[in-house]
Amino acid sequence: MEDREFLMIPGPVSVDDEILEALALPVRAHYGDDWTRLYKHAASSMREVFKTSGDVHLVFGSGMAGVEMCIASVLSPGDEVLIPSNGLFGDRMVEVATANRLQVHTFHPGLAEAITAAQVRAALAEHPGVRAVCIVHHETSVGILNEVEGICRAAREHGALAIVDGISSVAGVPFEMDAWGADLCVTVANKCIGGAIGVAPVAAGPRALAALDDGRPKAAGWYLNLATWRRYTELWGDWHPHPTTIPTNVIEAFDLALIRLLEEGVDNRCRRLAAARDRVRDGLEEMGFEMLAPISVASPVTTAAFGLPGMDVSDYLEWLLKNHRIRIGGGLGELRGRLFRVGHMGRAAEPEAIDRYLRATADYVENAGLTGAGRKG
Ligand SMILES: *Cc1c(COP(=O)(O)O)cnc(C)c1O
Repeated sequence: MEDREFLMIPGPVSVDDEILEALALPVRAHYGDDWTRLYKHAASSMREVFKTSGDVHLVFGSGMAGVEMCIASVLSPGDEVLIPSNGLFGDRMVEVATANRLQVHTFHPGLAEAITAAQVRAALAEHPGVRAVCIVHHETSVGILNEVEGICRAAREHGALAIVDGISSVAGVPFEMDAWGADLCVTVANKCIGGAIGVAPVAAGPRALAALDDGRPKAAGWYLNLATWRRYTELWGDWHPHPTTIPTNVIEAFDLALIRLLEEGVDNRCRRLAAARDRVRDGLEEMGFEMLAPISVASPVTTAAFGLPGMDVSDYLEWLLKNHRIRIGGGLGELRGRLFRVGHMGRAAEPEAIDRYLRATADYVENAGLTGAGRKG
């Protein structure tokens, strides 16, 4: 175990030993009284985490499976949607909607800028036929938080559904599904919640459920269709409250991660991750690194920083991994080679882990003879 890599990337995250132990328990069946109690317990914990009284389904799949389910379950081919993007995951939402034959309107703010409610209002005024606004809460590819609360309000005032990718924000950044008026939201077990990889909780409020039953043919097929999952919670709710086999050990580990999260308190978790962010940011700035985003829009979950002048960022990433078994993330797309990203979720938020990472980085900077302020150019 000791020389396994320690993850300080923006997901997946290294998890606590008790979560690993839950994964190693003998396999149990995905139905029956005990199982149904466990599944419902985890789903109801997720309701507290999303801060919703709506439906929650624990979808066996990656985060993008949940995104696809949210979009395709309530919209019909040809429907207009607004999907602003400021990074890779916004672009992915556009791809999902396009693949489901929706008509996508998009816009892109500048590098290191958040998507604002005012921009969304302006775009909605231009496209009155839009039926849903899809928005990434925390754009993990650049470590920036978008104005989700205001964007949900703008969508609602327009009569459009608000669909939120909360994959790297839920349980790490304050988010209130019902109070903010989000209609559908997806997250994953293995980012801020600190569970294992493999489950994407999807939450749906009353307007989303009404859209499921509005009689229009939906883009979704069978598996990634909320209507299917809802039907099974109704028909088989007392023994098998989901349509298919799901990874029972992953859900058991997830339930434990949720118990720990709720013991800590979601708001406390958010504060702890923000403190981890500050520790990383302060430490890097002290060494002369320049951050991609100003603190006003910087996510508490991921920090993106530019390499120092003359620094070979990919050499730095390889060196950290080879010499310290610490894996951090690189820049994506046009930012590859210029940017690196540090995650503050799971065990990566531990102060000792951060200090170990900062000491290693200081050694690298000194050995490579690098100094001075990083540059955005
Ligand atoms: C990680 C992430 C995804 C992708 O999740 P997968 O589990 O790889 O499908 C999507 N959106 C955001 C904001 C993410 O951080």
